[in-house]
Amino acid sequence: MLRNKHSFGVGTCGGLLMAAWLLAIGNARSADYNKPPEFVPPTGTTIIHAGTLLAVPGQSTQQAQSVVIRDGKIVEIRSGYVPAASVSAVGEVRVIDLREQFVMPGWIDLHVHLSGQSGSARKLNFVEMDQADVALHAAMYARRTLMAGFTTVRDLGSRGYSIFALRDAIKAGKVAGPKILSSGDAITPTGGHGDVHGYRREVLQALPALGTCNGPDDCRRAVRAAVKRGADVIKVTATGGVLSETATGTGQQFTDEELKAIADTAHDLGRKVTAHAHAKQGIEAALRAGFDNIEHAMWADEGTMKIFKQTGAWMVPTVYPITAVGDTPEKMKQGPFKDLPPPIMAKLLQLGRQPKDMVALAHKMGVNIALGTDSAVSPHGENANEFIEYVNAGMTNMESLMTGTVNAAEAAGISDRAGSLEPGKAADIVAMSASPLDSIEAVLDVDFIMRDGFVFKHGAEQ
Ligand SMILES: [Zn+2]
Repeated sequence: MLRNKHSFGVGTCGGLLMAAWLLAIGNARSADYNKPPEFVPPTGTTIIHAGTLLAVPGQSTQQAQSVVIRDGKIVEIRSGYVPAASVSAVGEVRVIDLREQFVMPGWIDLHVHLSGQSGSARKLNFVEMDQADVALHAAMYARRTLMAGFTTVRDLGSRGYSIFALRDAIKAGKVAGPKILSSGDAITPTGGHGDVHGYRREVLQALPALGTCNGPDDCRRAVRAAVKRGADVIKVTATGGVLSETATGTGQQFTDEELKAIADTAHDLGRKVTAHAHAKQGIEAALRAGFDNIEHAMWADEGTMKIFKQTGAWMVPTVYPITAVGDTPEKMKQGPFKDLPPPIMAKLLQLGRQPKDMVALAHKMGVNIALGTDSAVSPHGENANEFIEYVNAGMTNMESLMTGTVNAAEAAGISDRAGSLEPGKAADIVAMSASPLDSIEAVLDVDFIMRDGFVFKHGAEQ
């Protein structure tokens, strides 16, 4: 395509027909049909000079390292600050100076709901916003999550199709956000935690819960339908939940047979399967059915932990929302959820500190733990507080950092491309001026964010 502005005298020719003709032959003055999306890796090579590098959380840090990046992936990591001239590369070589920073893999949150934000407006939003509104809303939350240092998230329960459109737009570089693994609608029994509640009958009939199923055969169908809609992972509401407007407790809701049919079908289709589960019986039933992950696990006890260890399943505890909502009945009654309907409030008040004590026990007993926040219950963009919760529950700072990197990647089945900085993996990188190994609160102050080789934040410029 010719780029000489004056080659056909466009500036002096005002005729629409002439302009259309010029566009058609590709010589128009400003039309650039080949412009790439906004957020794609730059061409050429990038070298990051990392002052302190934690390439693989769980292993030791290295001082003065160079991370070489091409096409959004890590090519190699070399000792010392390698100058641009010493890298053999086609195209431009640029150097990013993080010599004063603590550099580590971008974080992974295994449990978010990008399509909304809990609170008193949620119920009305659900009937006022259509899928296009939801998608734009979710794009805002996705950006906030990325700017908090999370380069991958797993969205476990966003209704309809907008989350898949957002996932694909982010992947294509059209929208700023973390990479998304999405379940779409959760698989739920009729009237279960993932169904729609709290509206008059005619409204309920108009609001589909796409993942509803009853009986093993029907639940096999529901899993297949979720994969057909685009699900990367299967999310199941195995027990009741706190924030559904129904006075049915938090006990087991799917039968053992249904859970087994769901887990087997998900695995047959190459998907991980995870269960929202609060009550001990429901958690244990999902573990016995072969679930890969359990979300929340609020009422898991010592016996439950032993089954976790037998099956090797990962627990995704979601503790920060408890702090955000209030971890005593008094704080809950004053907190952001104080106006929620009575059936929800009754369940909320039973929680108290239980989820925090549960994580401390799980950690003490050596259960596999990976990071998840349930953001939407807590505000999007505050996800990194979960690292702090795990340290408060008894983990070392390093153990906590592992939950949101190597552990989360393994739990989600994406260790081949995320969770650590090694050749062949995605260039998903965050940096902080203070070391989170010295003080875990450093995770709240991220200075540098790269996802798939694109820099979304570097100091003041973003
Ligand atoms: Zn959730």
